[in-house]
Amino acid sequence: MFKKVSSLIIGVCLLSVILGSTYDIKVFASSVEGIPTEYESEITYLTDQSIIKGFPDGNFHGKDEVTREQAATMVGRALGLDGKERDTKFPDVSEESFASGFIQSAVEAGVIKGYPDGTYQPKSIMTRGEMAYLISNAFKLKETGDVSYHDVDEESAVYQPVNLLTTAGITEGTPGGYFMPEKTITRTEFSLFVARGLNSDFKVSQEEEEEGPEEEKLEVLSEKVVDADFLNVRQGPGTKHKVVGKLMTGETVSVYKEEGDWRYIQAGNVKGYVHSYYLLDKPEGDWKIAIDPGHGGNDPGASANGLIEKNVVLDVSLKAREYIENAGVNVVMTRQTDWYPSLDGRVAIATKNDADAFVSVHANAFVSSATGVETFYYAAGLSDREYASVKLATFINERLYKEMDMGNRGVKNVGYRVVKHNPLPAVLTEIGFLTNDEDSSKLKTDKYREAAARAIAMGIVDYYNWKE
Ligand SMILES: [Zn+2]
Repeated sequence: MFKKVSSLIIGVCLLSVILGSTYDIKVFASSVEGIPTEYESEITYLTDQSIIKGFPDGNFHGKDEVTREQAATMVGRALGLDGKERDTKFPDVSEESFASGFIQSAVEAGVIKGYPDGTYQPKSIMTRGEMAYLISNAFKLKETGDVSYHDVDEESAVYQPVNLLTTAGITEGTPGGYFMPEKTITRTEFSLFVARGLNSDFKVSQEEEEEGPEEEKLEVLSEKVVDADFLNVRQGPGTKHKVVGKLMTGETVSVYKEEGDWRYIQAGNVKGYVHSYYLLDKPEGDWKIAIDPGHGGNDPGASANGLIEKNVVLDVSLKAREYIENAGVNVVMTRQTDWYPSLDGRVAIATKNDADAFVSVHANAFVSSATGVETFYYAAGLSDREYASVKLATFINERLYKEMDMGNRGVKNVGYRVVKHNPLPAVLTEIGFLTNDEDSSKLKTDKYREAAARAIAMGIVDYYNWKE
């Protein structure tokens, strides 16, 4: 059976909170920034029980990744384990570590085992596969069911825990029927899983069981990415049929049936027919793009009209990441918070994490009359890398000026360090001028930041489709 898919879990956070807050401020979820109302009850539930404590900077940081020691701490609190700091069985978890008590208690409770080499690797980022193992052990899940994901086959080591978690209604995977076991987990996702493990009121619905027999037999033929805003989803295969929903650029759909130029699709709760012209292929390869939000930390980049470049481009980049991952492409971020990796350090982060291409995101500054988007690549000759850079720059820039409804300054050959001293196809894109009144008023809005994110993501999808 193909597990029904709801919306991607995004938004909120918590774990920053269990870290190091020596003063134990209890703040209710509703007064903390960055919590979508849809998750407020889960978060409040966790804060009320002090499983999450204090929000030192007033923000959930829901998209940050969770380390293995943070995960152990939260699960330890949820299970009421002894968190008193003490010696552990792991040489890499010292008594002084804030998580040592919970890690050792979790070992004793049979919830965690560590790695075969005897380490725990507390600072490593937890993957969704590891999370499945941890949560299914923590809540002693026993029941398995008829579960299948495209990317978790029955031979895989994570099949059993993923099945347990899905059967228990703690997860339902991502849109399109993927579990993404290698993907790192966000603080939001992890928190929701803990809340669902503790309280069945939060579990995801299992209503697909009630669907008609005909629909259950349909198999997914392909996954596609929507390439039109307000794309009509219709009851039947033709424009005379009633509109039952609308989709936006960058959303992904599962195709179940082909009828002429029409496709019967599902996207979240929306099911119906769309015209095939507006569906892009999802790249099939195991691609990984590096997204580099420019500047950060002590380097603010440009500032004008109340906007600071480092903040604008980080927001847009994190939004882009969601669209890109939805389209089935892996992402490595050179930064996810307000710090400054060196220019060569950014390239090193990309290559060490096996990225195959590199996109640096910036906003422009110049005289106030200058306006529009532009994208840079570097090419001294005609190497494959340089040609791929030109293609990537062109795909992104074409998307960008249309989505942003701005002037198109084109793609340009300029040897900026991150695009020149880079073994990967690399581009640097400028999403508008902070110094221009019209551009900056757009970049202040969530609507246009989403538009920029979508454009970058769709340009990247175009690029990988071209590669394939
Ligand atoms: Zn910049």
